[in-house]
Amino acid sequence: MPVNQFVAKSHVLHRALAYEPQKIVSGSGISFTLESGKVVYDASAGPSVSVLGHHQPEVTKAIVDQLDKIAYVYSGSRYTCDAAESLAAELLKDAPGGLVKAIFVNSGSEATDAALKLATQYFCEVGQPKRINFIARKQSYHGNTLGALSVSGHESRRAYYRPWIANNVSFVDPCYSYRAKGESETDAQYVERLKLQLEDEFLRLGPDTVAAFVAETVSGTTLGCVPPVPGYFKAVREICDKYGALLILDEIMCGMGKTGTMHAWEQEGIRGPDIQMIGKALGGGFVPLSGVLLNQRVFDGLAEGTMVLAHGHTFQAHPTACAAALAVQKIIKRENILDHVASMGWLLEAELNKEIGPLRHVGNIRGRGLFWAVEFMRDVPTKTPFPVEHNFSNRIVEVAAELGLNILGNLGKTGKIDVELVILAPPYIVTEEEIKAIVGILKEAILAVTEEHV
Ligand code: PLP
Repeated sequence: MPVNQFVAKSHVLHRALAYEPQKIVSGSGISFTLESGKVVYDASAGPSVSVLGHHQPEVTKAIVDQLDKIAYVYSGSRYTCDAAESLAAELLKDAPGGLVKAIFVNSGSEATDAALKLATQYFCEVGQPKRINFIARKQSYHGNTLGALSVSGHESRRAYYRPWIANNVSFVDPCYSYRAKGESETDAQYVERLKLQLEDEFLRLGPDTVAAFVAETVSGTTLGCVPPVPGYFKAVREICDKYGALLILDEIMCGMGKTGTMHAWEQEGIRGPDIQMIGKALGGGFVPLSGVLLNQRVFDGLAEGTMVLAHGHTFQAHPTACAAALAVQKIIKRENILDHVASMGWLLEAELNKEIGPLRHVGNIRGRGLFWAVEFMRDVPTKTPFPVEHNFSNRIVEVAAELGLNILGNLGKTGKIDVELVILAPPYIVTEEEIKAIVGILKEAILAVTEEHV
């Protein structure tokens, strides 16, 4: 007998067995409709995915047109297709940072694994096979496959799988000024402290054994939309360059326009990463698609080496997925949607600060573009968090859902610092009225849960 009736009801095994998932039957604009008929604002675009909303005729047509041409091409080595080549060309055409090639895979986790393998192989190709170590950050998330989990500082997701987790990865502190910067420390001093810590880790491992430093440009689910302190990525880039290591940036959640620029790192004043992961907004959820972008240095390493990338998947660069993503990216460019992201982002920031900022348990509101988090504290002045068992932010997510608002909540114990937060990442097509409605419902949910805690 199953111990939980909901597992028995749902044929699909979901992550949270205690919940009976509700069926979504349709979607339009930034909303989706449940089987019950209830319409819900998708203010997180799923997990920051559906950037053009839940229905887009032009993307549907691109998918159908591709299926009418050819459904599947195995792009192992001999063949490719127009959709994949055009998508790569579109992404790389005006790409800042000298990114020259793209690999397309199906999920963000696969993209991270591909990036880790690419970095490892690169150093073998250029005659530095000792570079096998990776430095990543605590309380980070780069995916759930075993390679990606190995560089993810996410305690609860790693816990069961310790025997499988690679031991060539070490972790330094993330850049998280709200909780980790000293009271009297300036941004510059905080950056210097993190830079020294990273350099110490290079030196501890032996700088000529480090392949790469891996980080999310704007932290996603584990810390909640934390933009780096000014100068942080310049410092990181400097250390990687000093010791000849690669910089791998994970923009699966924060990239492809979400922060107002196509790549979040463009706002950091650096020349760019050597390898970058993209996903989620790349295909806008119409299809599963993620990717890896690489610069000339990495490509030359392979090209001047064995000329073989020792990696691949059956469904890589799938024509239908690439055709859909190409349509998504063309719409974003043609309609100047990133300008809209920037202006709606300012409105969202202003509304959150005005309506949510003054609430009793709101400690910090942070983000960029249309990628924002609200972090809660039991006592704001002393930054005393709620005990995890209070389930404060997930209760807000539940109440918000009842009120017709879908947002993301806390994703379990991710590290030493317990972070109670909710994330808003509305589709790029969100309107002014919808932003105001979303913030209004969020306020109602926070007030209701605050009442439960008095
Ligand atoms: N990297 C980041 C920053 C993410 O947020 C995620 C997913 O949430 C991943 C990687 C993994 O992507 P996927 O779930 O598509 O495997």
